[in-house]
Amino acid sequence: MTTATSIKTKTYAAKSADKPLELFEIERREPRAGEVLIEILFCGVCHSDIHQARNEWHNTVYPCVPGHEIVGKVTKVGADVTRFKEGDIAAVGCLVDSCRTCSACAEDLEQHCEEGPTFTYNGEDRTTKENTCGGYSQRIVVDEHFVLKVPKNLDLAATAPLLCAGITTYSPIRRFNVTVGQKVGIVGLGGLGHMGVKFAAAMGAHVAVFSRSRSKEADAKRLGAKEVVISTDDAEMQKHAGTFDFILDTVAADHDVNIYLNLLKRGGNMCLVGAPENPLNVAAFSLIFQRHNLAGSLIGGIKETQEMLDFCGEKNIVCDIELITIDQINEAYERVLKSDVKYRFVIDMKSLQ
Ligand code: NAP
Ligand code: ZN
Ligand code: ZN
Repeated sequence: MTTATSIKTKTYAAKSADKPLELFEIERREPRAGEVLIEILFCGVCHSDIHQARNEWHNTVYPCVPGHEIVGKVTKVGADVTRFKEGDIAAVGCLVDSCRTCSACAEDLEQHCEEGPTFTYNGEDRTTKENTCGGYSQRIVVDEHFVLKVPKNLDLAATAPLLCAGITTYSPIRRFNVTVGQKVGIVGLGGLGHMGVKFAAAMGAHVAVFSRSRSKEADAKRLGAKEVVISTDDAEMQKHAGTFDFILDTVAADHDVNIYLNLLKRGGNMCLVGAPENPLNVAAFSLIFQRHNLAGSLIGGIKETQEMLDFCGEKNIVCDIELITIDQINEAYERVLKSDVKYRFVIDMKSLQ
């Protein structure tokens, strides 16, 4: 029942690691003074949702309502909200709160908040200590600091995955100064990978996609890649030895990173964003002989996420999506695991009314 302080909300949740997602009802609070209530229109399906729903990172609290690629419409604002009003289109990514005062928060790196950021789902609400519930739901309540504005020219469904797949690839591409004339590799052509290709190409780089088969070659080129390298073909890989300025690894499963490190130029950078369950094996020789750098990157802060959305607005960049209804979510998970998605599933949340 809806009370003065809570709003009954339908969601799709995993109740345990080995069960399919199913309809589940939660209560959202009425927005507090600095918060906005957003009716969710679209929510992207990130591979992290699958890792989390299936407890592959060993920290899932059940029931788990995934979803952190959210676009919706503001339907109510708290008394102190200044940046949004009822009727505005708004977006929410992987973060819904942080301490706002530590050195990371002061540098607009809320994802690295020293007290621990509050993730959109499977996080601990800083006030109530309850488990946070994500975007596979009718609505969400978020502090306006963590709510993004969507450029008016962008398609809303195809914008949703920018909130995770977009910022997660944009941030390292900026941090490692990908620019005109560089040779950049993107490992894995999935949700993150296809956005990595678009962003690196938009920065003017010569982009090569590393994929396990030729089946995605035409798509990779359409997305902006100049070439596709089959990562399972040693001879083909060897042709690129010592030539890459930067490689972004988006692979979600166990794999050998040394074969990519060996393709970097002297002093080249490789950045991991994919988050497989098991630790990787890194050979010292893959790093020391040509003083290669191996780094990681976690989503992006709120300021940079807005910068990414504005950049997408200017360049007319959105994600390539397949729109699904919420009852197709379990089938969609199986297809993501088979790399059978072009290139991000987005749930049309009308289907949860
Ligand atoms: P995705 O759509 O499933 O894409 C992953 C791609 O990796 C696949 O399309 C596939 O590309 C490749 N791949 C899959 N299994 C592989 C294997 N066994 N060996 C080699 N390549 C393989 O997933 P996503 O949503 O892009 O997410 C990718 C990873 O990033 C996940 O682990 C996710 O949790 C993580 N992530 C991290 C952050 C962060 O902040 N760091 C944010 C979001 C997501 P090909 O078919 O082309 O080979
Ligand atoms: Zn994600
Ligand atoms: Zn902080």
